[in-house]
Amino acid sequence: MKTINRLALGSFLSVFTLFTSAESIYIKAGQLLDVKSGELLRNQLITVEDGIIVKISTQLPPDNSGAKVIDLSDKIVMPGLMDMHTHVVNNLSKAFYDGYFQSPHRATIGGIVNAEKTLLAGFTVIRNVGANNYQDVAIRNAINEGEIPGPRMAVSGPALGITGGHCDSNALNHSFKERAEGVANGPWGVREKVRENVKYQVDVIKFCATGGVFSKGTKVGQRQYTQEEMNAIVDEAHTHGRTVAAHAHGTEGIEYAIKAGVDSIEHASFLDKKTIKLAKKHGTFLSMDIYNTEYTLSEGEKNGVPQENIDKEKQVGTKQRASFSAAVKAGVKMVFGTDAGIYPHGDNAKQLSRMTRFGMTPLQAIQSATINSAKLLKWDNKVGQIKEGFFADIIAVDENPLLNIRSLESVTFVMKEGRVYKQ
Ligand SMILES: [Zn+2]
Repeated sequence: MKTINRLALGSFLSVFTLFTSAESIYIKAGQLLDVKSGELLRNQLITVEDGIIVKISTQLPPDNSGAKVIDLSDKIVMPGLMDMHTHVVNNLSKAFYDGYFQSPHRATIGGIVNAEKTLLAGFTVIRNVGANNYQDVAIRNAINEGEIPGPRMAVSGPALGITGGHCDSNALNHSFKERAEGVANGPWGVREKVRENVKYQVDVIKFCATGGVFSKGTKVGQRQYTQEEMNAIVDEAHTHGRTVAAHAHGTEGIEYAIKAGVDSIEHASFLDKKTIKLAKKHGTFLSMDIYNTEYTLSEGEKNGVPQENIDKEKQVGTKQRASFSAAVKAGVKMVFGTDAGIYPHGDNAKQLSRMTRFGMTPLQAIQSATINSAKLLKWDNKVGQIKEGFFADIIAVDENPLLNIRSLESVTFVMKEGRVYKQ
């Protein structure tokens, strides 16, 4: 009897699933922002089936079909935002040394919470650049399997770095034998590390080409890795169909990384004429985190960030903003990357207004966080626009972001792959 019931329930569920998956969702968009042209289209109807946008028209849904209608008539509807530089497992904003006292399992749970916060803030795609123990791979997989809410993720796993460099772990004395997971030296050493990351299913390879703000004993401007090592990382990653993100503040590190053929430069703080020209020539994307400096300088001390790191932030912040303005003016390709985790997760959109303050138009800032980011990930045939055949990753705001970019800091509707997470 029990068996029969379970079978009956099972077949009911599969019929139900079949029915719901074929069901159309109609979204009535009062205004739809075409992020490519910057045009606001009035009274559009977006039809979603199986998580995919199947039609965009001006017709009204048939009123006798019992179809599911989402009424966003009084809102501005646009594609979900994308952040190309997150540390979803990290919470530097909470306590600087947390990482030393949390087990990887506990840290992963924090990452799950952060992923949901990010999605609810309107970010339907993130690229996570740096996580120990492949925690970001696990979170990505659980999200993809529908077990937990979160954005679509491209993940890097452990970032590659030289011994004692920015991507190593240098705070403890030598008796602890502390060594970050991504440490690799020499062309064959780095190739092996790339292969290991590929083995454990990363989407992107991240490496540290220079020192950085939040490591101990590294100089932000100083290059780490030789040209030969960077070439080997990029060649190995591209051979395996993975894109490459290079953390690089200093000019020489930026230059070497671009010459090696990386897909994006992270931070890009100390740009000069030569590196700007080089980035344009190679079509390299810049991912410049120009908001978090404000957070670190106002809250860092309270959160236990050591003086060394606060001093380095002071050294970088102003210069990075000037570099950003120069790069925008020169027309270098830009994505939206914020270093979420340095500041609280979910505040990602705060950077958009800073990008407009330092030289972008609101549309350029929005494009950096949609179509440009989609191109960097090579996902531009699926995300970054509201278009037929694309994933139904859709957000809405109450005010026109082209007139008030800060409206994106309070997104009022979030849909990912046809499922509503916030309304
Ligand atoms: Zn970072």
